[in-house]
Amino acid sequence: MKRLLTLGVILSVGLITLAAQSRKPAGTEHTGKAFRFNKVREGVYHAVGTGNLAVVGNSSFIVNDDDVIVVDDHVSPAAAWVLLEEIKEVTKNPVTTVINTHFHFDHSHGNQIFDSRVNIIGHEFTRQMLLSNSIGMPLYRNYVTGLPGQIDDLKKRLASESDATTQSSLEKQINVAQNNLAAQRELKPTPPNVTLTDRMTLFRGSREIQIRYLGRGHTAGDVVVFLPREKVVMTGDFLTAGLSNMSDSFPDEWVKSLDALKTLDFDTVLPGHGEAFTDKAKIGYFQDYMRDVWTEVGRLKQQGVSAEDAAKRADLTKHGAHLPINGPGVPLIGVQRIYALLDQRAGR
Ligand SMILES: [Zn+2]
Repeated sequence: MKRLLTLGVILSVGLITLAAQSRKPAGTEHTGKAFRFNKVREGVYHAVGTGNLAVVGNSSFIVNDDDVIVVDDHVSPAAAWVLLEEIKEVTKNPVTTVINTHFHFDHSHGNQIFDSRVNIIGHEFTRQMLLSNSIGMPLYRNYVTGLPGQIDDLKKRLASESDATTQSSLEKQINVAQNNLAAQRELKPTPPNVTLTDRMTLFRGSREIQIRYLGRGHTAGDVVVFLPREKVVMTGDFLTAGLSNMSDSFPDEWVKSLDALKTLDFDTVLPGHGEAFTDKAKIGYFQDYMRDVWTEVGRLKQQGVSAEDAAKRADLTKHGAHLPINGPGVPLIGVQRIYALLDQRAGR
């Protein structure tokens, strides 16, 4: 009987272990490295996609004495899976903690590969969105419904291309997009299992990891991850190396929330898009842009211009010296958001 019991225990422990390991998701196939790891401090890395796999946003990871903390987990379970595979080449420490800077698909759609022992930390709002209708929101809907058309376009270009180098580049892009489509079909939005509303601090040996909510901005629940000793901040899309999408934003409040970011003592930013940077003046450039977008789009709305036309006409070219703006126009999804906010505030 005792032996049977022991066997039972061993079997059930075995089953738990098996159940805890997520099955390899669809769409992980790729050639070469999927990520380039930019080591900015001892144990602190910024992970930027190479283009060999669809990952979309950047992640960061922090290697501690006994574990690894990952900040953001990309566009799909496949991308998160491959990230973990490549992290294993840096450290054997297990990933115990994931932090979602916000709910957007390119920062949280890898959550499902982590078993229940992994703490997935995010703002209360991030949890609410991933539990409700995050994939019905325009940003993801536009993205995922656009994928088949992108693949068709690439195939058409390939069919009419005669240059061998361009052909092989197009073939690679088609493979990457097809794998991403296969990965998206397995998507199950998975919310954080630990939430915060204001701030939370993790301690790992001598390392302090602050998770800070600085006010509404890019979404109603973006957090930044601040390492005070290392003077590094991971900002997701609250502050990127260029422009950030506005589809779920509060542009006027965002300007104020960025003032709160400026009060943190950091010298290196690891953004959710683009390369790491040290130039804090970028915060001001982005605030100036955001103020002007708000005013300019509001002005056009006041004149009775449709959102579609405002998206073409809104002229922010004067910010072109510091931000990637080549001509008039603001993404329609951002203009629609501002129109909706103005209507809401006017009680319409
Ligand atoms: Zn993003």
